[in-house]
Amino acid sequence: MKARLVETREIAPEIRHFVFDVPEATEFLFIPGQWVSIEEMVNGQQITRAYSIASPPGGNRFELCLNRVQNGHLSPYLFTLQPRDEVEMRGPFGTFILREPPNDTVLVATGTGIAPFRAMLPARLEKDHTRPVTLLFGVRHESTLLYRDEFEATERSHPNFHFWPTLTRPEAGWNGRIGRVQQHLTAAIDSETDCDVYICGLHAMVDETRAMLKGLGFDRRRIIYEKYD
Ligand SMILES: Cc1cc2nc3c(=O)[nH]c(=O)nc-3n(C[C@H](O)[C@H](O)[C@H](O)COP(=O)(O)OP(=O)(O)OC[C@H]3O[C@@H](n4cnc5c(N)ncnc54)[C@H](O)[C@@H]3O)c2cc1C
Repeated sequence: MKARLVETREIAPEIRHFVFDVPEATEFLFIPGQWVSIEEMVNGQQITRAYSIASPPGGNRFELCLNRVQNGHLSPYLFTLQPRDEVEMRGPFGTFILREPPNDTVLVATGTGIAPFRAMLPARLEKDHTRPVTLLFGVRHESTLLYRDEFEATERSHPNFHFWPTLTRPEAGWNGRIGRVQQHLTAAIDSETDCDVYICGLHAMVDETRAMLKGLGFDRRRIIYEKYD
């Protein structure tokens, strides 16, 4: 099916937020955490890449959050799209979705790995107002803390939600957490080994985080993950 770009905006250097609609459908159904596959002809080559949906379901729209991979095959092309341009799309796909019933939850993301969590959070917080949900979000610079305002607002409106940003290259004046997400994992899970931990980002971080959790005694069913590469 076709997805048509409605609007796009830069949300950090080399990172854009995209709003698409599906003109042939009145409703585009998906479960928060799922992804779509975008297939395009770029420089005479058919390229297919997966992108996590970064918005909760609503009407025939869905949103994506992408970073431009230097010399990448598809992402630089997607950055050239203008409103009303169309791309070939398939989906939704994937099992990186919230487990039922809601449990104490830790979400671990780096970079654009935040996308599925932006989609999942409203449903998770609507369903359960008591069990804690901690979002541990790692980026290099403060300027790449994607959707920071939204997560801070959610933290104010939902006492059981905790937003834990951490920077690996903090500028002067940053008073928050520093270092990689792995350094804050033990504090985020708060000595629990029966909470659900969802991890999303590049494989190096995902694999390291999974190994740490296993070392802490986590059952593998409590570790739910999506690798971008
Ligand atoms: C299930 C799934 C969901 C995904 N969701 C997203 C998403 O929401 N947003 C997003 O930006 N990407 C996402 N990706 C990655 C995406 O599919 C592409 O791999 C990415 O856009 C690079 O494609 P490319 O053709 O431009 O680069 P390629 O020519 O394929 O170059 C690959 C290089 O890009 C690196 N790479 C892949 N993804 C990223 C990334 N996000 N940031 C930095 N380097 C990367 C790889 O490690 C590899 O070195 C997802 C991948 C999967 C499997």
